[in-house]
Amino acid sequence: MPNLKDHRQIGAELDLYSFHDTAPGAVFWHHKGYLIYRSLQDYLRSELLSNGYDEVFTPVMVKSDLFKKSGHWDFYSENIFKLEQEKEIYALKPMNCPEACLIYGSKVRSYQELPIRLADFGILHRNELSGVLGGLFRVRQFTIDDAHHFVRPDQIQKEIEDLLVFVEKFYKLFGFRSEFMLATKPDKAMGDSKLWEEAEKDLEQALKAAKVKYGIKEKDGAFYGPKIDIHIKDSQERDWQLATIQLDFQIPEKMELEYIGKDGRPKRPVIIHRAITGSLERFMGILVEHYQGGFPLWLSPVQVAILPITDEQLGYAKVVKEKLEAENIRAEVDERSERLQAKIRDAALQKIPYLAIIGKSEFESKSVSIRTREGKDLGKLELTKFIQKIKEEIDKKV
Ligand SMILES: [Zn+2]
Repeated sequence: MPNLKDHRQIGAELDLYSFHDTAPGAVFWHHKGYLIYRSLQDYLRSELLSNGYDEVFTPVMVKSDLFKKSGHWDFYSENIFKLEQEKEIYALKPMNCPEACLIYGSKVRSYQELPIRLADFGILHRNELSGVLGGLFRVRQFTIDDAHHFVRPDQIQKEIEDLLVFVEKFYKLFGFRSEFMLATKPDKAMGDSKLWEEAEKDLEQALKAAKVKYGIKEKDGAFYGPKIDIHIKDSQERDWQLATIQLDFQIPEKMELEYIGKDGRPKRPVIIHRAITGSLERFMGILVEHYQGGFPLWLSPVQVAILPITDEQLGYAKVVKEKLEAENIRAEVDERSERLQAKIRDAALQKIPYLAIIGKSEFESKSVSIRTREGKDLGKLELTKFIQKIKEEIDKKV
């Protein structure tokens, strides 16, 4: 087993992020770390579009009344950051759900409109004691790839099934193996027991239909509804619980949400809370350790290191960089007057996937000599062919 590093060490070596006492539990994203974060978010966004979501963005600071109405204040108050303004208590939101409900409730909804899926990369704050904060894994400020599906009871099963397929596909992209756990009604549960029974049956049917591996966690559901917890195994065989798909019968009740049914009468929708990465900050920490900093091409903050052999090729190296950037490929030129071996070593240590070496013959033939960060020599390629190859690999997310 090679020497494994933790994400704090890798983050410092690769200049991805830092932490400062002035903001305990909050991440300072450096340019390269933020490029990875954004690439991940861009991918999630593209999937949202093709899966029928509407993306919304809701306020960070709201009056505490909202969380009192939603019921979070009673159970969650000690984790909520509070501010007083003009004799009014405000909260930094610890979750997006109540605000998603306000958007849902902002107009009359008909049964034909459902499901309505609202995604929100809102900025959340939860108070954790400063002693337990650590790196990207325990933070106070974070973003969840959050979404709320407002559905009719008859839509639950299909909606969950589609979600399970979506989630599994997403995790496969990173080489994670996923396992699903159905958590059923706890002893202390709210709501109609017939509704619970139906919902548990729906979730189990969905798990079967999606053909995923699953187990049962008896009586481990939330008091407001059953859920599916999703665990993954990373490259070091560590188990992480990332996502939850959670049915909720209570918030729609508390927030008085309705839709007009086929019979013209108002009905209550059911909410599915779901996140796939969970906290993006924590997910980034897991990815950094999973890949040990050697991200796949599409996520790499610098995708190509351009290494001129002597200063004479510097001009051409800059032209190559411009051509790559014009195709949205992230590239950097090593302008130092170091020996080529040193430049190759440093680029590989920075885990840059491709090293494009430029000497006299490459300049004359408008080409580049390509090496990978693993030390594989791919030989000389015409620049246009190299660009085409990289673009295809980025698109395929390898
Ligand atoms: Zn929620």
